[in-house]
Amino acid sequence: MLVDPFALLEHARRQGYAIGAYDLIDTAMLEGIIQGAERVAAPVILSLAEAHLDLFDEQALMMAVLAMAQRTPLPVAIHYDHGSSLERLERASRLGYTSLMLDASHLGWDENVAATRVAAEFAHRLGMPLEGELGYVPGEEGRDAELHPGEIRYTDPEEARAFVTETGCAWLAVSIGTVHGRFRGEPRLDFTRLRRLRETVGVPLVIHGGTGLSEDQFKELVRAGAHKINYYTALVELAGQAALGRGRWDQMRQAAVAAIAAEVARTSCLWGAAGQADAVRRFAAPWVAVEHVIYYNWSRSDPELQTMQTRGLEVLGQLPGVQRIAAGRAERADAPYQYLWTMTLANPQAMQAFRNDPRHQDYANAYFRPGAVERITIDFLHIHPQSACPTAGLAAPTPEP
Ligand SMILES: [Zn+2]
Repeated sequence: MLVDPFALLEHARRQGYAIGAYDLIDTAMLEGIIQGAERVAAPVILSLAEAHLDLFDEQALMMAVLAMAQRTPLPVAIHYDHGSSLERLERASRLGYTSLMLDASHLGWDENVAATRVAAEFAHRLGMPLEGELGYVPGEEGRDAELHPGEIRYTDPEEARAFVTETGCAWLAVSIGTVHGRFRGEPRLDFTRLRRLRETVGVPLVIHGGTGLSEDQFKELVRAGAHKINYYTALVELAGQAALGRGRWDQMRQAAVAAIAAEVARTSCLWGAAGQADAVRRFAAPWVAVEHVIYYNWSRSDPELQTMQTRGLEVLGQLPGVQRIAAGRAERADAPYQYLWTMTLANPQAMQAFRNDPRHQDYANAYFRPGAVERITIDFLHIHPQSACPTAGLAAPTPEP
């Protein structure tokens, strides 16, 4: 089940453990991550990195991610990792993500603060936590750090405190010696720095570049104050190794899913997330979508009706937090209302932001209100979990003779 992501990481911070944010690129990884987390009853963050979006169909994969996040009893968040701009975050807010990252850590202090502040205001208005980054973790998810410019730039605790105050970001990614991808040689982690960051900053801390650390390093990392650990390279390496030598795609996929599940279960135990699912469910409110429904009749011409609907799909469908939009016409001519708008908003805060958005108001005043009569508008909370048709009672198919 999707839960309030602010509360999800706040639970980890208060209880002193770290939740895995596993970057995924397909449904095999998705299934492996959910299976592994379910095996050890760990809360989990399903994460998609912007740098990976050229590898798969994001919209299609997100439908699967949402379906599995809603179906599992585990508390889950869906995270947009390493967003590069406000425009990208706006787009992500429509696709089903429940938390967002803006990574402006390669910029100077002033630019990073300014961009992160705007992104935090945007995300928090929609009820989505914004992760900022201060300091520099070289490389990209799953790509060796050597290919990417820059030395590790460690996060200074006093600067981090000022950064969080000035930007209002909900979570902070810090640099204490990890790199994206795999290290050449032994990573040197600055645990003292992480402890001081935990004491000075007061918001959940995120570690990027978890691959290649030893069990002891991970345990020390969590004790020192990591609350969310981003994890990718090890998953794709283990999946690849498990699949090698299998001649068929179906067998390769199964082996990859199993390897990912095992690694997710292992790391969730190591980071203290295992066994926390029930406690998080009691602590964090469910994440509930809103169905915005309007019935109406039309008093003007048919061409004006068409223009109104077409413009509405274009304008409203591009607003933050609008996950789905449909314009409808009654199937029967004697129905008391002949037309329908229905939209799914990410959550009640996104609904509020949608109502107040000037683009929405301008559209409604210019196109909708002049012709729409006998309007009924109701916002419905989705009943949680947002389930599809129940399938539990399905009989097993009879085998072919
Ligand atoms: Zn990262």
